[in-house]
Amino acid sequence: MHELKLKLDSSDKAKIFKMHKKEGDSVKKDEAIFEIETDKNNIQISADIGGIIESINVNEGDEVQADTVLALINEEKEASSDEKDSENKTEEEMVYKEEPGSKTVEEVKTSGKINEGGKFDIAILGAGPGGYVAAIKAAQLGAKVALVEKDKPGGTCLNRGCIPTKALVRSAEVYRILNGAEQYGCSIDGISFDWKKIQKRKDRVVNKLVGGIYHLLDSDNIELFNGKGTLVSPDTIEIEDNITLNADNIIIATGSESASLPIEGADLPGVIDSRMALELKELPEKMVIIGGGVIGLEFAFIFAAFGVEVTVVEYLDCVVNICDTEICQEITRIGREKGIRIITGARVNKISRGMDDSYSVSFEKNGNEEFVSADQILMAVGRKPLLTGIDADKLGLELNERGQGIKVNEKMETSMPGLYAIGDVTNKIQLAHVASHQGIVAVKNIMGEECEMDYNAVPSAIFTDPEIGEVGICEEQAKKDGFEVNTGRFPFAANGKALTVGSGEGFIKIVTEKETNRIIGASIIGVHATDLLAELTLAIKNKLSAEEVAETIHAHPTTAEVIHEAALDVGGRALHYKR
Ligand code: FAD
Repeated sequence: MHELKLKLDSSDKAKIFKMHKKEGDSVKKDEAIFEIETDKNNIQISADIGGIIESINVNEGDEVQADTVLALINEEKEASSDEKDSENKTEEEMVYKEEPGSKTVEEVKTSGKINEGGKFDIAILGAGPGGYVAAIKAAQLGAKVALVEKDKPGGTCLNRGCIPTKALVRSAEVYRILNGAEQYGCSIDGISFDWKKIQKRKDRVVNKLVGGIYHLLDSDNIELFNGKGTLVSPDTIEIEDNITLNADNIIIATGSESASLPIEGADLPGVIDSRMALELKELPEKMVIIGGGVIGLEFAFIFAAFGVEVTVVEYLDCVVNICDTEICQEITRIGREKGIRIITGARVNKISRGMDDSYSVSFEKNGNEEFVSADQILMAVGRKPLLTGIDADKLGLELNERGQGIKVNEKMETSMPGLYAIGDVTNKIQLAHVASHQGIVAVKNIMGEECEMDYNAVPSAIFTDPEIGEVGICEEQAKKDGFEVNTGRFPFAANGKALTVGSGEGFIKIVTEKETNRIIGASIIGVHATDLLAELTLAIKNKLSAEEVAETIHAHPTTAEVIHEAALDVGGRALHYKR
């Protein structure tokens, strides 16, 4: 008989708030049995094993404490063998089997073609969104392709970046909507979250996508070599256990890693990077995030949504300083309104550990020494190109200034013939879609199709709450670059769809070149901002004018109407807004 015990800190007290099961019910592993109320929040207590509930030792309203035996579960009498089977499988296996016709990771890995070495048209070092997309494109164009990856395919983006963070963003959004259900005329009692389940969902999303990549690589006959590769010459890669690959062309796509500040205390155990932040077993009460860039701010909104007391300490005068100034001001205002403490113009110079396992971050602001304490510190001060397996000096490979990444031209060629580099390792713009596009450009050039990167219309999506989207150049940058500009604006508060969704915060700003009225940039903060970028990216890429966008019919009611109205407003003729 299995005892389901309450896991709490020994000092914490709790009350049984709700019971989802009764004696005699069958229960699956991880299925909720109780909901308890603590000082901090409500927590679901789930079965740690599947079976039949033999007895329940508590009632609703009972006070309970750590180690109370809440229920006895008889695992012998488990409901059905199917359920037992599914419990024994790894999450990966369960997820891949959901897709008809798809294979498990192991099935794909052991499909028989792997790790033989040999000669290829194109070999790619690193299977992030740069490397694996380049591999697929190359295979589509008829090349024999090898892809070398020391970890799982998908790279930072899929395994420890874009996708897991956005899965957490979604859980935070669902939790926020549930808590605000009253405004939609809905009542929900006892709203709570279970961090472990949120993490599991995140992992399932990641695993499903990783499985998809294995499947794609397999279908395109791309040979995946699992191991750390070393570039020994512009046409040779050696993999860990002496496998040698030769290729007419090699593409370096080794990505980047978290940077850290060279300050005292940066290596203390409570100091984590974005990768560790995604794996937190439990939420801290207080967190200091050093760095208010895109990654730091996304985490700030995620953790704050789940009740963590978050402080962001930023060196510059504003957070997400890659954005239009008005957007920076708006997200700072909204962040503060949501309880995030944002300190700007602050130079962090030391992290120290207190007696009670708390940490203190000291910083200088306006000439004064100040500090803020927390039980976890997230270092989010940017990412640096990863040159593992690439000895640039030995190879004679030219790097960017101060060694910051591999130097490339617009065709993604390095200083060495036949050797290309793409993605974060080039330190151009560290975004997944840029890495993928650079990969396609590199492959097209290798395969004889002249092609160059154009960085004029690169969209940036920031998943704060509300979202931010930027593309092209913002108003200040345009002026700095010598453009005479016009702008068109529109608030989400005047957009019907935004109000039906319940998100009237934010605005859009379109920047045009005065002489031609051509759109050269756009900045958006508001609901769906990241999805709205697509139309503006297309407009900038194709040199469309504000009139051409304004003459285009936009569906009603959609948030895309803010683009239509802002384009009209460039000429002072917005229909639903007076300046
Ligand atoms: P990576 O994705 O880093 O892949 C490089 C791969 O190379 C890795 O799998 C690595 O294991 C492998 N590798 C390295 N060296 C070797 C070697 N010697 N041998 C074999 N394999 C090797 N970007 C966005 O566009 N949108 C977002 O929302 C977003 N969110 C992010 C959130 C976080 C927390 C982080 C950290 C990043 C985020 N990014 C986002 C950035 C994005 O993840 C990167 O720009 C993108 O992953 C870069 O792709 P890449 O292919 O150049 O490198």
